[in-house]
Amino acid sequence: MAIAHVAMPIAAWQTFDYWIPDGLDVARGDVVRARLANRAALGVVIDVDAASEIGERLQPIDALSGIPRLPEEVMALAAFVSAYYQAAPGLAHALLVPPPMRARKPAAKSAAQMESDPPAALHALNAAQTNALDAILGSSGTFAVTMLHGVTGSGKTDVYLAAATHAVARGGQVLILVPEINLTPQFERRVQRALPNVHTVTLHSRLAAGARRANWNAAASGDAQVVLSTRLGVFAPLPHLALIVVDEEHDDSFKQQDGVRYHARDLAVWRAQRRNVPIVLGSATPSLETWARAQGARYRHAAMPERADPRARLPAIRFAPLRGADVRDGFTPALREAISARLARHEQSLIFVNRRGYAPSLKCAACGWESECTRCAARLVVHHEPDRLRCHHCGHAEPFPRACPECGNVDLLPLGFGTQRLEQAIRAAFPGARVARVDRDTTRNKDAFATLSKDVEDQAIDILIGTQMLAKGHDFRRLTLVGVLGADNALYSADFRATERLAALLMQVAGRAGRADRAGEVIVQTDFPGHAVYRALASHDYARFAAELMREREAAQLPPSSRIALLVAEAHARADVDRFLDAAFDRAQSLCDGDARVQVFPPVPAAMARRRGFERGQVIAQSDERKALLAFLPRWREALTTTASARVRWALDVDPVSF
Ligand code: ADP
Ligand code: ZN
Ligand code: ZN
Repeated sequence: MAIAHVAMPIAAWQTFDYWIPDGLDVARGDVVRARLANRAALGVVIDVDAASEIGERLQPIDALSGIPRLPEEVMALAAFVSAYYQAAPGLAHALLVPPPMRARKPAAKSAAQMESDPPAALHALNAAQTNALDAILGSSGTFAVTMLHGVTGSGKTDVYLAAATHAVARGGQVLILVPEINLTPQFERRVQRALPNVHTVTLHSRLAAGARRANWNAAASGDAQVVLSTRLGVFAPLPHLALIVVDEEHDDSFKQQDGVRYHARDLAVWRAQRRNVPIVLGSATPSLETWARAQGARYRHAAMPERADPRARLPAIRFAPLRGADVRDGFTPALREAISARLARHEQSLIFVNRRGYAPSLKCAACGWESECTRCAARLVVHHEPDRLRCHHCGHAEPFPRACPECGNVDLLPLGFGTQRLEQAIRAAFPGARVARVDRDTTRNKDAFATLSKDVEDQAIDILIGTQMLAKGHDFRRLTLVGVLGADNALYSADFRATERLAALLMQVAGRAGRADRAGEVIVQTDFPGHAVYRALASHDYARFAAELMREREAAQLPPSSRIALLVAEAHARADVDRFLDAAFDRAQSLCDGDARVQVFPPVPAAMARRRGFERGQVIAQSDERKALLAFLPRWREALTTTASARVRWALDVDPVSF
């Protein structure tokens, strides 16, 4: 009797054997229903064996799932994910399984379909865009990675769409990965305008399961010619894949931060190589990982240093010091005046602060007590409407205390500024202005963001206040002022990528200003205008900044000059974490005894030492050689499996983006 080796969706480093009932046609790549510890689950068949050392205890496969057999390409991708990211094979293969099919309810119309935009005339590509397109397609459809470094507004999207048109015309499918769910409706509209007769589908986690499954089917059957997707789309079968686009390739949302900790950009490159098709990694602020490879000529480098709209210029950057200025409600006189001027000219302003809520914490004026989460090493954030102290890490919420829990003083003050507080200040300072706040709190509703950006486009809004949700992708034509508040906070971060991220964020957000005929201005409130990040912003010279960062990373042997894997562990008791990590460190040292290529550092607390009631710590393993690290990790993982106690939760994070 034939048996199937099946990857079941649990964190075990093994596959499970089931016997195949007569008449069931089961092969590698099939998604099957089977029982695991008496629970029904979907598994992916890795292999079928004729051999029959079947113990009596083996269970049968219950049924085929109805999901089309997964092609070899994505099966190989899952195997790679398991091996590279040290993820249990069952969890890696579960990434391939689409959501279940629902009753035949027609898929909800997407925002793009509801819009009835007139088909916009397509621009003829300018010289820089044509060069970029040539670089991407240059190798007549074979594998090559092109880093497309284009400033905000340089017309990267038009380049992607021209490359996509080319691929589709030859019968190919195009995978376009974008970072934000919020960006997909806008992007989708642009795709449909540029490629009106092309079957485009989206894949992202906010789609209803039925719609996502229908779109997945369209991708897998080859019917969908363009697949526009967040990171999860990198696992979709695409039989005619001819081109991959990764937009905003530097964005951390391509990295999954829990479960299987894969990086969709890196997997996209892997997939392109395996399929021998071109891939383009686009950004105004490429990740140093990508930058280094383009410098080293492993990737092609296409640059678009100017805005595409011939009337548009990159915005002028000004710095407004806080020290010594008449700062009111967080605003410097320079920024207040600039906002007034925009209102008078019927232009729009965007106020950017990367903190939602009213104020980052509540503080006692007498003894210095600050509101802290009992479950996390974090401040409780002051929120109004409703009035609550909220933890942004665990969701805990409590009413405001009437008095200081330490000293009884009733004089408790909100400390610092969040979007709510700035909104209040703006409304008070500019009573006639139409103000909108955009953050996770105001966009919980599925369509809220689309409605808001439509209001901005229709000029129903004068002043936008928001978090980084506003930084990306939007093309608001009458927006001429961007004010940046609180950016200096990031300069104190311990994360070695903090300045790289801040530069990316500021260039993105600055890029919202002056995208059409009206000149844009950016005012950054800072006391450190001489910092390299701000100098790069002011000179629009990312290349120089990247070179500077690269030198720092080389000197400190940090990525991309080295490779890192992180062992993260958490437990309710700190002692359990410490014991586990100490043992893990010892094992690592004996495993790489005599091998100087892999360095392991003693355990340290995580950047956030406690979260959701769990004490957290980590051990870093580092190497100049990817191969050496990859050889070490499976041996370490095996050793860890035998040392871990049930009280400790742990995971390996290869190429981590947060610490
Ligand atoms: P990016 O993605 O690089 O930030 P976009 O693709 O959004 O830039 O393009 C910015 C603006 O420039 C858009 O309004 C787009 O329609 C316009 N644009 C793109 N290419 C051209 C061109 N060749 N000529 C004129 N305008 C263009
Ligand atoms: Zn007090
Ligand atoms: Zn908390």
